[in-house]
Amino acid sequence: MQKYLLIHYGEIALKGGNRQFFEKRLMENIQMALLEFGNVGLKHIQGRIIVKIEDKWDLDKVREKLLKVFGIEYFAMAWNSDLNLEKISQDLLVLLKEQKFKSFRITTRRANKEFALTSQQISEQLGELVMTKLKKKVNLHEPDINCRIDIFGKFAFIYFEKIICRGGLPVGVSGNLLCLISGGIDSPVAANLMQKRGANIVFVNFDAYPATPKENQEKVKDLAKVLAEYQNGSKLYLVPFLAIQQEVIKIVPEDYRVIFYRRMMLRIAKMIAQKENILALVTGDSLGQVASQTVENISAISQAIDLPIFRPLIGFNKEEIITIARQIETYELSAQPFADCCSLYVPQHPVTRADLNLIKDTEKNWNFQVLLAKTLEMAVIIKQ
Ligand code: ATP
Ligand code: MG
Repeated sequence: MQKYLLIHYGEIALKGGNRQFFEKRLMENIQMALLEFGNVGLKHIQGRIIVKIEDKWDLDKVREKLLKVFGIEYFAMAWNSDLNLEKISQDLLVLLKEQKFKSFRITTRRANKEFALTSQQISEQLGELVMTKLKKKVNLHEPDINCRIDIFGKFAFIYFEKIICRGGLPVGVSGNLLCLISGGIDSPVAANLMQKRGANIVFVNFDAYPATPKENQEKVKDLAKVLAEYQNGSKLYLVPFLAIQQEVIKIVPEDYRVIFYRRMMLRIAKMIAQKENILALVTGDSLGQVASQTVENISAISQAIDLPIFRPLIGFNKEEIITIARQIETYELSAQPFADCCSLYVPQHPVTRADLNLIKDTEKNWNFQVLLAKTLEMAVIIKQ
């Protein structure tokens, strides 16, 4: 029996006129994810994608790769049988002889309505067969093994394990977004959640080297590399931010330093976004988590620029964010000790209700545009 990857996608089937565009993108992304196995042939049939599995493939690796392709609802490594119940029965018995179990159930899905029997009838007949030939018990609710029969197009597949993925939309269908990534726990998770909504992420980090250690940059590069596995590679802007911070501490009231750091970060991010034709930014803010994330401060920071800023974590608790960070394997990296540039020259009591009038007054006679442009010129671009 030949083995196939049987890939189901969900949400993208709902998207009306855009459906073909989404499907094409999903196929390309799967192809890209499996690139190391060669130029694999993908077939798209009745809302599923099938890929022939070669003997030499490392199936753990295939699994790991597909789990990172957004748009896939679930997939299976399935055996191809024939479109007749006789052959399906034979094949199922052969396959079950290699499995250890006491109880079982049969779950049939039939998208091909030309097949003579209904899903229910197929399940009943196969169930009967396994009971009598193999002397096993049916257990519909908690079976040791669930034998799944999937019939569609000209195919009938058998598999036992359904590998659940994270769904979402294929990366690329929502265009590009620019994520402000620190070495912290939150922003990598924010980037990943936007990838899940179909965005390809470009990254920007602001770094205070040499006032903060060089390891910081390595850490951010490593984080971008982990996130690059969910899309086709990544581009990271490393922006040297120390000169701007030194200017900020000379000019603004002490308790407003972080607010101004952030406003300057957003302005540079906007310049990068314009260069990259990107329409919106992403940050890892979560409401009330730290002083800079009160409604007043988020508002005062956001008003530095006129681009939309997406904050997918705004309503998340820290524990919820950490759960995702562990799942996407950024947690270990983020949890390493580091000194973010924003922790430099920060007062004991930062303002929690920033006053926009004070901010505007402070910025009125301050010609920071030249410094911002110079800073951007010094940015290093890392492609991974
Ligand atoms: P994180 O865990 O992502 O660092 P945080 O909870 O520590 O977030 P802040 O440090 O207040 O919160 O940062 C809020 C957001 O601002 C970050 O999620 C990130 O998007 C952005 N940001 C903060 N510092 C930097 C930086 N040095 N470079 C790029 N973006 C940054
Ligand atoms: Mg931080």
